[in-house]
Amino acid sequence: MKLISGWETDLSKRTEILAVHKVKLREFLEKLELWDSLQKGELKCEVCRITLTIDNIGLIIPLGTKIGICCTEMDCLLKMKQMKENKT
Ligand SMILES: [Zn+2]
Repeated sequence: MKLISGWETDLSKRTEILAVHKVKLREFLEKLELWDSLQKGELKCEVCRITLTIDNIGLIIPLGTKIGICCTEMDCLLKMKQMKENKT
């Protein structure tokens, strides 16, 4: 659960981290049983509803009991951050 622990305020840094850990990201998604959905194009950005691929996942965070995923758009990243803060 390394990818979702803590919130990096520097979003560009976070994107870099995700890029470096793309292999880890796959493992991570497999663990969450989201990898298959991603491959089938069934995963959507929580904010703008764009179809997510391994290349445009910006953030994965726990939102209450479910997992919130959004794309790399700055607007979406910021909205997800707000959603997360509202839940906690
Ligand atoms: Zn989005």
